[in-house]
Amino acid sequence: MSVLEKMSSDEVIALENKYGAHNYHPLPVVLNRGEGVYVWDVDGKKYYDFLSAYSAVNQGHCHPKIIGAMMDQAQTLTLTSRAFYNDKLGVYEEYVTKYFGFDKVLPMNTGAEAVETALKLCRKWAYEKKGIPENEAQIIVCDGNFHGRTTTIISFSNDENARRNFGPYTAGFIKIPYDDIDALEKVITSSKNIAGFLVEPIQGEAGVYVPAEDYLAKAKALCEANNVLFIADEVQTGIARTGSLLAVCGNCSCENQCEQQASYVTPDILILGKAISGGAYPVSAVLANDTIMNVIKPGQHGSTFGGNPVAAAVAMAALDVVSEEHLSQNARHLGKIFRAELAKYIETSNIATLVRGKGLLNAVVINDTEESDTAWNICMALRDNGLLAKPTHGNIIRFAPPLVMNEEQLLDCVSIIIETLKQFEK
Ligand SMILES: *Cc1c(COP(=O)(O)O)cnc(C)c1O
Repeated sequence: MSVLEKMSSDEVIALENKYGAHNYHPLPVVLNRGEGVYVWDVDGKKYYDFLSAYSAVNQGHCHPKIIGAMMDQAQTLTLTSRAFYNDKLGVYEEYVTKYFGFDKVLPMNTGAEAVETALKLCRKWAYEKKGIPENEAQIIVCDGNFHGRTTTIISFSNDENARRNFGPYTAGFIKIPYDDIDALEKVITSSKNIAGFLVEPIQGEAGVYVPAEDYLAKAKALCEANNVLFIADEVQTGIARTGSLLAVCGNCSCENQCEQQASYVTPDILILGKAISGGAYPVSAVLANDTIMNVIKPGQHGSTFGGNPVAAAVAMAALDVVSEEHLSQNARHLGKIFRAELAKYIETSNIATLVRGKGLLNAVVINDTEESDTAWNICMALRDNGLLAKPTHGNIIRFAPPLVMNEEQLLDCVSIIIETLKQFEK
């Protein structure tokens, strides 16, 4: 069949099944267009997108400013590699470091690459600045973490599905329970060889677990007291998703009046990805101050595509949109409404037990076991009712729409979600 003919959903799905590796289990809906908070399937049916490509599309689908910047740059210069300078990278580096309040940035492409970069940077700092003996550095990580899919990263995952038969694993990581400050204190003070603490300010993939209000500040204080780098993976939580520019909002140039200033911290190493490009292009970044970043010298780390001029132009436009359209404030405002409305319904529901989250990163816990397919079935019904969401586990559904949503749209979505949940009441 000619690729120019319009294919049905079933045909597209069959092609993926036959010719693509089966490394995902998508909800059966085939999309071919997106604009703002909406996506359309191949039959022209319109949906609210409540996944936002795992929070990459915070600025909404095909934002004209971001796509415009991408098209302009794509017609001018796409890739030079870092063997030569290009006229966009330096401009972007100044922009992004001032935007987030760090001395330097190391540009990469995907989230996992940025996490890898942060881990390498942390180890190098540990050997060259902290004085840890060669190959002895340990990095503390949390149970239930999700930091990406490389061999090193899955080495410290507890998701057996992500780990099994991918060994041998990378050594040098110590796992502790998330949101447990005593556990962190015990491990961080137990050895002189602790180099860093890698943490998600909210665990997204695990099911949107929001730690205690003072957890990150206390963790940062413990890191400082023990000369350990606090490494924040904000690939999912960053770029306005949780109602502030960063979930750890520190010395950034963020115009928000963060609600609990005291509980926010400045990471030593900040990892960004996903929405730093508004979902238009793979862009990730590692930010740190000079004392840390300057341990990396020419030839010691890199990426052919990292810091390319299209990525630079796209990221600047995407971050402009975040501040121009006040996406943090909007996420915070709509998130409160979302949780309040869902909580009201949950009081009398026997299918949903809990809503939790921050800003527009929220989850609803379904009254069934982790192994059940209830959350999947609810997502299928949501799809039929015009809203796309995906379970993070058998009994948890994440709700993360683009941050350009307005209040009327959000209330429309809340009623779709509640009416759909009602179909599953026992
Ligand atoms: C998505 C994600 C990553 C990995 O990003 P990729 O671009 O998929 O490699 C890393 N950390 C967190 C917290 C994420 O949500």
